Amino acid sequence: MKQVKVKKGLDLECKGWEQEAILRMLYNNLDPEVAEDPEELVVYGGIGKAARNWEAFDAIVATLRKLENDETMLIQSGKPVGVFKTHEHAPRALLANSVLVPKWATWEHFHELDRKGLMMYGQMTAGSWIYIGTQGILQGTYEAFAALARKHFGGSLKSTITLTAGLGGMGGAQPLAVTMNEGVVIAVEVDESRIEKRLKTNYCDVMTDDMTEAIQLATEAKAKGKPLSIALLGNAAEVHHELLSRGVQIDIVTDQTAAHDPLNGYIPAGFTLEEARTLRISDPTRYEKFATQSIAKHVEAMLQFQDQGAVVFDYGNNIRQVAHDEGVKDAFQFPGFVPAFIRPLFTEGKGPFRWAALSGDPEDIYRTDKLIKELFPENEALIRWIDMAREKVSFQGLPARICWLGYGERKEMGLAINELVRRGELKAPIVIGRDHLDSGSVASPNRETEAMKDGSDAVGDWAILNALINTAAGGSWVSFHHGGGVGMGYSLHAGMVVVADGTDLAGERLSRVLTTDPGMGVIRHADAGYEEAIQFAKDQNIVLPMYEK
Ligand code: NAD
Repeated sequence: MKQVKVKKGLDLECKGWEQEAILRMLYNNLDPEVAEDPEELVVYGGIGKAARNWEAFDAIVATLRKLENDETMLIQSGKPVGVFKTHEHAPRALLANSVLVPKWATWEHFHELDRKGLMMYGQMTAGSWIYIGTQGILQGTYEAFAALARKHFGGSLKSTITLTAGLGGMGGAQPLAVTMNEGVVIAVEVDESRIEKRLKTNYCDVMTDDMTEAIQLATEAKAKGKPLSIALLGNAAEVHHELLSRGVQIDIVTDQTAAHDPLNGYIPAGFTLEEARTLRISDPTRYEKFATQSIAKHVEAMLQFQDQGAVVFDYGNNIRQVAHDEGVKDAFQFPGFVPAFIRPLFTEGKGPFRWAALSGDPEDIYRTDKLIKELFPENEALIRWIDMAREKVSFQGLPARICWLGYGERKEMGLAINELVRRGELKAPIVIGRDHLDSGSVASPNRETEAMKDGSDAVGDWAILNALINTAAGGSWVSFHHGGGVGMGYSLHAGMVVVADGTDLAGERLSRVLTTDPGMGVIRHADAGYEEAIQFAKDQNIVLPMYEK
């Protein structure tokens, strides 16, 4: 089976840094240090892939090597399908992944097309080539737990026990996010190799397959007020009930198994990994039934923890919906994390902003760490995060950084990075992008747009407008996807990446894209009636035609 390695250094394979950036980010997504199952082209999140198959991957690479500075490559669900002459301010690549006509937007239909080789699941940053490993979600997870700590535990998770499951590409951030908030966490994971990856990269402290030991370690650490993350090898649908029956006092419960995709992302109770793999292929319908039944049991346990007083929330994997469809009537009794903790940030266009150093040199990221602290010295939470990330985050693949910045701030940071490249203070250009989980780029009624003030949760126009305006503004690559995070039928979302290569042209494009993109978040929330967003738009002179006198 084929494998690719991340590409570093100053030698270009392509005709410009923009094309080279796309190529390097594609390689980066599939580097074994970064991707969860690189041989299958799976980056993270169940079967979130970077290319349809290896043949399509090779064709993308060959196309990028030839692509001119005024051409645009088109990608349809992980396969290159055309190149057109456009212009220098236009994106070098436009991508559409897993988009199905609404009536057909089910896993069943998707899997049928996938089997025929006609589609690929792009998740969010897998198929749009801006995944940066587990760090990509670490800050968001850290912020979500910090917000929870402020709301329920006086600002810290000290002397609390969090129970969760899933230590995959995204879920692997949970143990470190909890200990960064001074708490104790038991993370249940059924696949030992996933646990080992988190131990190796220092995202998790210890592993055990013995529940008694896990409980003892957790209760001792809680009593001493010491942060500790414990990976417990087991199946959450079973372990959670066992913890309930043993009367263990759990303070917080969430989940990051890939429950959004029962066929590929959830191991049913009572199955070894090997048995699951075999049944998944021989009888996918039966497999899915077992998986959804287990997810229902899993959510029932979460509800019982909630009844006992734990703070329980859905962390964006659609587990409530799957359980609800399986007959758990009160599955939506616990909230999603966006209305519970994140929405106020979204109203000001704040969301997960990230950048990666194309040189491959960690020093380039450390220089940008210094830059962001110089630019926003008054933002204490941001500075605390940057210092912690520097100390605790191991880079995977190309060195990268993430932090939550909003409207105005993103443009300032992007232009300042471009200036560092121009002055030669960074060895090579930087790519600047974000998750699709952002303030103005996603329609996902069980997640980012859950419980919108005006009830517009399922309106998908906003995600399309986001992709269109970022294309018009000159992103380097812009993508539109369906089904990321929560699965088929439940979300529409857009991604953007823009390259800072130190030129005036890049400066113009960065200035526009890093305004339109978070600006979409502000107008989306203003339109839904959030007073904070309306006021913020007025203060920042963002034009809201319906509010103009
Ligand atoms: P992944 O596929 O890389 O990992 C899922 C993990 O769950 C695997 O390690 C798997 O072994 C484990 N697992 C499956 N069934 C289990 C069971 N019954 N008991 C214990 N462990 C089990 O997925 P990921 O990238 O970590 O994403 C996790 C979920 O979070 C997905 O649904 C994804 O769509 C969603 N997500 C959330 C956010 C967010 O911001 N909250 C962002 C991106 C993705």
